[in-house]
Amino acid sequence: HNSDQVKEAALFMQEHDRFLVLSHVNPDGDATGSALGVCLMLEKMGKEYIVVNEGETPAKFSFLPRFDLLRNLSEESLDDTFGAVIAVDCADESRMGDVRSLFASGAVLLNIDHHPTNDGFGTVNLIRTDAAATAEILYDVAIAAGVSFDEELALCVYTGLLTDTGGFRYSNTSPRVMEIASKLLHYGVKPGDVAERCLEEITFAHVKILRRALQTLTLSHQNLVASITVRPEDFVQENAAREDAGGLVNYCRNIEGVEVGVSFVESEPGVIKVSMRARDRVDVSAIAKHFGGGGHAKAAGCTMRGNLADVQSKVWQVLGEAVGVKVDE
Ligand code: 5GP
Ligand code: MN
Ligand code: MN
Repeated sequence: HNSDQVKEAALFMQEHDRFLVLSHVNPDGDATGSALGVCLMLEKMGKEYIVVNEGETPAKFSFLPRFDLLRNLSEESLDDTFGAVIAVDCADESRMGDVRSLFASGAVLLNIDHHPTNDGFGTVNLIRTDAAATAEILYDVAIAAGVSFDEELALCVYTGLLTDTGGFRYSNTSPRVMEIASKLLHYGVKPGDVAERCLEEITFAHVKILRRALQTLTLSHQNLVASITVRPEDFVQENAAREDAGGLVNYCRNIEGVEVGVSFVESEPGVIKVSMRARDRVDVSAIAKHFGGGGHAKAAGCTMRGNLADVQSKVWQVLGEAVGVKVDE
């Protein structure tokens, strides 16, 4: 372990008094759990903070402590700047989105993340690509900072671990993940309740988007690639939000024999969120990076602009090279 960087991260929190805490645009469970976990740590250290994101945090995470303090920069403007910033689960500067407008000139930034594509954009960088979740790294920072764990902090860390391992099922589920999860349960986390909120419960709008998306499911590249598409009109007609289209890509990847699953979610015309999931042969983070995004070898994504057909043909082209099969029309 890079324990020097863990100590440096703890020192960063001790050295400053007022923080801007942020995670990535359109945050997921690890981003949200880690950001709120940092907030709880700062409170215990007697520090002031605000916690901001670009894009709405899914309501399913509302069981997390301090959820009500999360500010959504897409809906409100803030007239303030900060000299000390803590970014969690952000692989590069662009993942912070418009929250960057709140940085004071010369602001110092602590970058805590686990993405192999992280470019070390912080003043202090704590990047561990062997960590299953940013929350796993946060667990070490809390200990290094001498912060005591309680049920609330444990719940934040546990939520990051649970969601980024797909419910302790993905290959990033290490012995250490299970050891930390076990310790967190001892602080009172109720695993059944957290799993119900994060993984089991779905909105009706999600099911309606899923029903439409499954009708678009297509196999290509000699059945090694499966893809799904959601269009702006699907959201309008089902009265659904962008977050209702999460997780669709897994239906593609899970099909027997498929190497790469990909979803194209166009929530507003011309803006296409591409999510990719690999079984084992392909490193989808390299493909996402090629298109300006990033992620992990088996789960990565990017946002592409333009006409859907053009975006799809570009992605299929690169995927074809990755799986060693030309795009079949
Ligand atoms: P998802 O497809 O669920 O949005 O994201 C899968 C993984 O890829 C996550 O680890 C996420 O952080 C990363 N990812 C998704 N979109 C982007 C992006 O636009 N840029 C970067 N750097 N990473 C992304
Ligand atoms: Mn994330
Ligand atoms: Mn993560």
